[in-house]
Amino acid sequence: MTVTTARRQTRTVPIGAITVGGDSPIVVQSMCATRTIDIDATVAQTHQLAEAGAGIVRIALDSEKEVAALKAIREQTPGITLSVDLQENYKIADKVAPYVDKIRYNPGHLHHIEKSKTIVDKVRWLAAVARDHNLAIRIGVNCGSVAPEFLAKYPGDQLAALVESAAYHCDLMDEIGFDRFVVSLKDSDPLKVLEANRRFAARRPDVPLHLGVTEAGLPPDGIIKTRLAFEKLLAEGIGETIRVSLTLPNERKHEEVVVGHRIIEDVRAGRFISVPNFGAGLNIISCPSCSRVENEKFVELAQEVKELTAYAANHKITIAVMGCRVNGPGETDDADLGVWCGPTTVNLKRKSQKLGNFKYDEVLPRLKAEVDQLIAERT
Ligand code: SF4
Repeated sequence: MTVTTARRQTRTVPIGAITVGGDSPIVVQSMCATRTIDIDATVAQTHQLAEAGAGIVRIALDSEKEVAALKAIREQTPGITLSVDLQENYKIADKVAPYVDKIRYNPGHLHHIEKSKTIVDKVRWLAAVARDHNLAIRIGVNCGSVAPEFLAKYPGDQLAALVESAAYHCDLMDEIGFDRFVVSLKDSDPLKVLEANRRFAARRPDVPLHLGVTEAGLPPDGIIKTRLAFEKLLAEGIGETIRVSLTLPNERKHEEVVVGHRIIEDVRAGRFISVPNFGAGLNIISCPSCSRVENEKFVELAQEVKELTAYAANHKITIAVMGCRVNGPGETDDADLGVWCGPTTVNLKRKSQKLGNFKYDEVLPRLKAEVDQLIAERT
């Protein structure tokens, strides 16, 4: 593979104590998977990630109830650059702004609330909040949640919808006169991540890109999936900050950061992976978990799904395992079998057909029966 020695020149975006873009080193970032209201656990994980080399630590907030916890977390993590994920509730931006350095909004989630307001007004307000509090913004689009108007405009071409949605929000920022933003275009399929980021980089070479393969899953497969996209993009000089999303227990969460740094070093040294036929058989997607995860057993469940289905390695079946009921139903849409956690039960579906809720000790035999049936039908 040809490695571009010169990185592309994007604009620089100051974010707290660091800078992304321009001549700055690539920033590795990560996200807390602890419950945000568990202040001690989140403070500890913030330090764990920062000590492993995370330049930015992201925290998810769903509601105003968690703002007091964020304030306490901020007070106990001085010097660490914090970002907050607004999830589906962009309206909490002004409440969280005093305690973070960056906010992330998803253009595909802006239509959910305050339907009487236009997207332009919502983005204008977010930019004003960021400006007033000296924050940067990430415009973060995902294949799983593209804004409906862009899906309608580009029927059958999800990548075009994704890229155009991100480009539209950049244009809005330009019109508003706010330039302290980065963009991410993510999916669980590394090939889509590769293509979307290449297209966007060609379209807006000035905008720093945050790279990510969502729900890459358990190591080592999750690392391979991530490398398939990151190696090529970084070698082409694309990507100013990266996040590796792995399904890991909290005590190992910092491994995301270690892996991120290793990928950057390997690309610089011209070391690339080669895994013939990777992705040709069974594909297990699992989320990295976050403050929304509804049961502590989620990571264990993902591991058990992997072990249970190892016998189906040569069958082209995709199983998605997600940590919560908010994103679980949507994020499993493209999978053959979807599993997502609730507080006491696990939901199971086959394509769009819901198969029901099962106790944690009952879901695995039922999942295996579904895998067996899929194999039988396809052979
Ligand atoms: S699926 Fe739910 S728990 Fe998993 S990362 Fe996404 S929001 Fe967090």
